[in-house]
Parts: sequence; structure tokens; C-alpha cells
Amino acid sequence: MKKYSVFAVAREAMRHHTGWTRAWRDAAPKKRYDAIIIGAGGHGLATAYYLGKNFGITNVAILEKGWLGGGNTGRNTTIIRSNYLQDPSAAIFEKSRSLYETMSQDINYNVMFSPRGVIMLAQTEHEVRGYKRTAHANMLQGVKTEFVSPARVKELLPIINLDGPRYPVLGGLWQARGGTARHDAVAWGYARACSDMGMDVIQQCEVTGIRSEGGKVTGVSTSRGDIACDKLGIVVAGHSGQLAEMAGFRLPLESVALQALVSEPIKPCMDVVVMANTVHGYMSQSDKGEMVIGGGTDGYNNFTQRGAFQHIEETVRALIETFPMVSRLKMLRQWGGIVDMTGDRSPILSKTPVEGIFINSGWGTGGFKAIPGSGWGMAELMAKGHSPLTDAFGLERFSEGRFIDESVAAGVAH
Ligand SMILES: Cc1cc2nc3c(=O)[nH]c(=O)nc-3n(C[C@H](O)[C@H](O)[C@H](O)COP(=O)(O)OP(=O)(O)OC[C@H]3O[C@@H](n4cnc5c(N)ncnc54)[C@H](O)[C@@H]3O)c2cc1C
Repeated sequence: MKKYSVFAVAREAMRHHTGWTRAWRDAAPKKRYDAIIIGAGGHGLATAYYLGKNFGITNVAILEKGWLGGGNTGRNTTIIRSNYLQDPSAAIFEKSRSLYETMSQDINYNVMFSPRGVIMLAQTEHEVRGYKRTAHANMLQGVKTEFVSPARVKELLPIINLDGPRYPVLGGLWQARGGTARHDAVAWGYARACSDMGMDVIQQCEVTGIRSEGGKVTGVSTSRGDIACDKLGIVVAGHSGQLAEMAGFRLPLESVALQALVSEPIKPCMDVVVMANTVHGYMSQSDKGEMVIGGGTDGYNNFTQRGAFQHIEETVRALIETFPMVSRLKMLRQWGGIVDMTGDRSPILSKTPVEGIFINSGWGTGGFKAIPGSGWGMAELMAKGHSPLTDAFGLERFSEGRFIDESVAAGVAH
């Protein structure tokens, strides 16, 4: 694989871009792999990448029923932050955020990480207390956040109306090194790096069954034939319940559609990411100038990857009071993705009742930011049987009542 660099770009410009090679091989399935990962979203690809990079396990296939990053990874609003409350969450999300800082160099692919800062607005007394508590917890965890005054919020966000009639802005939780990254690039960059290590990234290959013998995994059945493996990682977000059923166990998860929309492109007006969790809307401005707006989840379980008109109305109505300029924008397009929600709003990174099968799911509405950290921990879990990053997120916490309650940080926020 050719290294991307300023010199390579200049050289290719001189010869009309005729010398680029394919970013990843279009692989056909082999009969057997040491490890198979189901799902070529960010988490699956990152898991494969760190299996190769950190543990030298490269006889790996990543199986994707659709196209690379076509699930939630390519449908999310790309907010990256690590201002969670509980220690295990702060550890994995901060690991992830710090890996984003150097991801472009690490995988030699520009993921356009933009640490422009994330502000979470406090619009009730309850939120003020909650965010101050999180800022204190973050200080102890080594995560840099601060609670800021309304005046500072206005400085960061000149387009804001602080004095909304229902929910005036009382302050905010500010993470200066939070931000965004280009979602497709994260998937494409990891896929290219995996392919370069000799792994097979196989698209249009749906897993239809999981085979085991004597309580141990032996392989998978797919739309392109049976494939044997020693270890299997299920990393399919909203479809986790279906895959678990194929393997013969159940997960404490619900699958619901989460929606987002973008406006027409406008001139730069906002250079931070803002989240208004009381009214439930959040917004950033893309490099193209579109306002990227995130809404809520459907109130019922489903597998449709579509947006709905009432969500546009609800989300825009929520934002207009605090950002009156939104009322003048034309909305361009909307979409949905299927998110996997656990009861405590924390992920599951775990062994399963079937030996050799590992599950990575439950990232719900906020797993884009966790991709590199989750891949790092999941790879260690698959290679060594446990990881300090994932130990707290095992399935057994649901039967032991050892929840990691992130309903404030992750229940509605992203
Ligand atoms: C509208 C929206 C906004 C969001 N905003 C944010 C945000 O701002 N910040 C943030 O951190 N997170 C956000 N999220 C959440 C984030 O997108 C997800 O947590 C994350 O992308 C999950 O990645 P993944 O790799 O686990 O899943 P996915 O990207 O969904 O990948 C799973 C893959 O598995 C494949 N698959 C499923 N079944 C099978 C099968 N049987 N065989 C083979 N392949 C299969 C799917 O096709 C899919 O490609 C948002 C999500 C949505 C929908």
C-alpha cells in the first residue's frame, strides 16, 4: 500500500492521479481464520486493527452484510468527548479521545479530527448541579473539563440566546479538546490499515448463522458460504440481539432508531459543538457549512434506518428558543440509524456464554467517540481474555446489579 503524504499528493497531481492504488483489497472469504469480526463499522474495524497492531493477530476477516461504515458509523453526528461521570466510562472514553488526537498519523489516513471544543448547556438548576459534579469527577479522573459561566458560553457561541423564556442558559460543561472527526474516514482509514496488514475486509457478506460445538464457537454461516474460526467478535450495534440469538444467548438490549438532519450550507457561524440536553437538540457546523443537527430516538423498538417528519419538527422546535437563527434555515436531508441501548446506558464489552465468542455492543447513541478506545480494549479482551479497559463492562454486571449508570451523560446525549 502506498503511504499517503504531501509528496505523494504532489507526485500524483503531476501525473493526473493515475498512480493511486485501491485503498483496500476486495477480498473473498477463505475457509478459516484465527478470528472473525462480524460488522465493518468503526468498532469492528478498530477491533481488527488493534488485534493486528497490538497482538500480531492478522489472520482475521471482517464480515459486513452491507457496505463499509454503512451502519451507524456513517450515519452519526460525529461528536467526540469524554466527559462521562463514572470511572470506567471516563477511562475508556478518554483513552478513545486521546487516540483520536493521533489517529490520522497512526493509520496514515486523514480522519479530519477537529478538537474544536464541546459545550453542554446547563438550562436547569438540576443540570447545573449535575454538570458541576461531572466536572469534579473528571478532574479526579484526569479528564480536562470545566463548568463555565453564561458569559463564557456567549463568548464561545455568539449566536446563542442566553435568555430563553423557558430555559435560560445557566452555564455549561466545557471540554476544550472534544470535537468531531469525519465518520467515513474513520471506517475507511481502519479498513485500509487492516487490509494492509493482510486482513480480509469482506463486504456484501451477511452472517446468517453461528456454529458451535460443545459450547465453543467453530465458525459462521454466511451468504457467501461457511467460514471456520477460533474466535468470533460480534460488533453489530443495533443488530446485536439478532446475532446473539443465532449464537443461542440473549442480551439486555433494545434496538431503536436515532435520527439526525442537516441544513443547507451557510457561512461559518459556530466553531464549537453545542449540546442542549434539557430540550434535546445538538448542533455543529460541518466543513461544508451545513448545520449538523441531532435529534432523539424513536419511542418504540424498530429496525428502520429512516428519519421521520415529527422528529424534524420536535428537534428544530427545541433548538429555536436558544438558537433563533435556526428558524431561517432550510433543512436539506434527514436519516436514522439503529442504536443498541442498555438499561444503564453503558456499553457491553464481554465474553459470552459461548466460549470464543465476544460481544461489543450497547454503545447506544454515543459510540462514535469510543471507536478507537473500544477497539483497543476489545482486541485485548479477544487476545488475552480480559482488558483493564473493558473489565467493568462485562455482561455479568446485569445479573450482579453492578450497573455503570451513565443515564445523564449518555441517555439522551451523544
Ligand atoms: C443519528 C445518529 C447520531 C449519532 N451521533 C453520535 C455522536 O454525535 N457521537 C457519538 O459518539 N456517537 C453517535 N452516534 C452513535 C454511533 O454512531 C454508534 O454508537 C457507533 O457508530 C456504533 O458503531 P458500530 O461499529 O458499533 O456499529 P455500526 O457502524 O452500525 O456497524 C455495525 C455493522 O454491522 C453490520 N451487520 C449487522 N448485522 C450483520 C450481519 N448479520 N452480518 C454482517 N454484518 C452485519 C451492519 O451492516 C453495520 O455496518 C449516533 C448514532 C446515530 C444513528
